[in-house]
Amino acid sequence: MQGKAVSEGIAIGTLSIYHKSVRNPEISTYLGSVAEINRLAVARTSAKREIESLRLKASMENNETNVSLLGSYLVMLDDPAFIDAVERRISNQMMTAEQAVESARDRIYELFGTMGDEYMKDRAEDIRDISDRVLRNLGGSVSVVPTLNEEVILLADDLTPSDTMQLDTSKVLAFVTRRGSNLSHTAIIARSMNIPAIVGLEYPKDCEGMTAIVDAYNGELIIDPDPDTLSRYRARKAEIEERNRALSELKSLPCVTLDGHRVGLLANVGSVNDIKKAMESGCEGIGLFRSEILYLDREDYPTEEEQYEVYSAAVKAAEGKDIVIRTIDIGADKQLPYMQMKHEDNPALGMRAVRYCLGHKDVFKTQLRAIYRAAAHGHISVLIPMIISIEEIWQVRSVINEVISSLQKDGIEYGDCSLGAMIETPAAAVISDLISKEVDFLSIGTNDLTQYTLAVDRQNAELEFICDYHHEAVLRFLNMIIKNGHENGCKICICGELAADTSITGELIRMGVDELSVTPASLLRVKQAIRGIRISNEPSRY
Ligand code: PEP
Ligand code: MG
Repeated sequence: MQGKAVSEGIAIGTLSIYHKSVRNPEISTYLGSVAEINRLAVARTSAKREIESLRLKASMENNETNVSLLGSYLVMLDDPAFIDAVERRISNQMMTAEQAVESARDRIYELFGTMGDEYMKDRAEDIRDISDRVLRNLGGSVSVVPTLNEEVILLADDLTPSDTMQLDTSKVLAFVTRRGSNLSHTAIIARSMNIPAIVGLEYPKDCEGMTAIVDAYNGELIIDPDPDTLSRYRARKAEIEERNRALSELKSLPCVTLDGHRVGLLANVGSVNDIKKAMESGCEGIGLFRSEILYLDREDYPTEEEQYEVYSAAVKAAEGKDIVIRTIDIGADKQLPYMQMKHEDNPALGMRAVRYCLGHKDVFKTQLRAIYRAAAHGHISVLIPMIISIEEIWQVRSVINEVISSLQKDGIEYGDCSLGAMIETPAAAVISDLISKEVDFLSIGTNDLTQYTLAVDRQNAELEFICDYHHEAVLRFLNMIIKNGHENGCKICICGELAADTSITGELIRMGVDELSVTPASLLRVKQAIRGIRISNEPSRY
């Protein structure tokens, strides 16, 4: 079966399907029956649109079974009995749309499930599936993650970053999901954990417990392979392990092109453990610490003390090298129930990252206090995500000044941090000359820069074929940002996934990028590419 490989590797093992059960997190407040019924209608329309596009794909692949199954889902979503059951709960029992969908779903599931008829039991599963899809579209759904007792190849409809974080990933040999794309956070997290992953693959419902091969080079899932295929893949896996051993010899060699251009090679991390892994691969520092990962998989915000412990441990693990901590980039596909985020029709264009922090200064200050305190023990820089204006930087500086004054007043030890802006919106790219006068360094987030420049949702597998991060517009932006940054004395790092794309490394160095920050698993592969490139002072063609 074919999907899209998003994190390289080969895994051989038993398949386990991750049945996500959605629990109502009671985050939304009742907005009145008209508003709740409207919310339900919008979520149902989005769910139908998703199913329609899956059905179109299935019909293009001549997959009659899926076409008919998805067709029946569409009918169920329009079923007056289902809609009536939900709307009655909203109007008569003053339930929110989420509570009403969940309550109707459970009732129907119970009715169908107890009929003792296999066909009706299957329909009960279908009701659960479509209801969960509507719940996801209402936003704020929380999945209950199963415990893994043995090593498995995990199959899932989709995995949110918090699902991934809650799993015991030491038991996950590979991920295979139906949804997601190369730039989705699930893919990024799989790469950062060095776990093979394939997305956009319609695996069958009835493969639980079967043996399979995941070829996350070619995006293939081979269920119940014959002995020849199995031994071919075992040999290939051993070969790859051998090649990785050879790469490890590059650890202590400098990161320099054949004609002497030096490039800083840094790591993107989400935990202290990742930092240790990156240091083992001989990286020169941490270019991106995705601090929001500390906020996932919890019931409440991490306290200043908890964060201080983590950032101090990070400084220690970095062995004297610089660490760039990105302040929380929450929102969009990283929703946290305890943050009580309001429903947004367009979360990727909504309350995320610096917007959230400036709107919730108490949360922002707690994080900054912890970072500045940890900076007393080593070199930390603070990086602000999703900047669109210089006013935002002024506001951030003013919050930092307040934090420093409060630390001084409390007589608490702290260290200085340089301040950087992430350039990941077209607005920031266009005014990168102005932004670079306000900060000490720039870090280019090509994942979001591509998404916002091309107006293509990075999460949408259906649009992946046009989510082209080698698009001329993106590359012209990169060249412009690097030029603007250098004219104003800023160092430029690229920390999006493009930094690990060795098919473009030569061009990035020609543009003059100072540093590339990549997942720990990609460090040596990128170093090998850089050491094999000749730039010969040609200017960039962008
Ligand atoms: C980016 O947008 O390129 C980036 C590095 O940030 P994230 O992927 O966490 O949004
Ligand atoms: Mg980003």
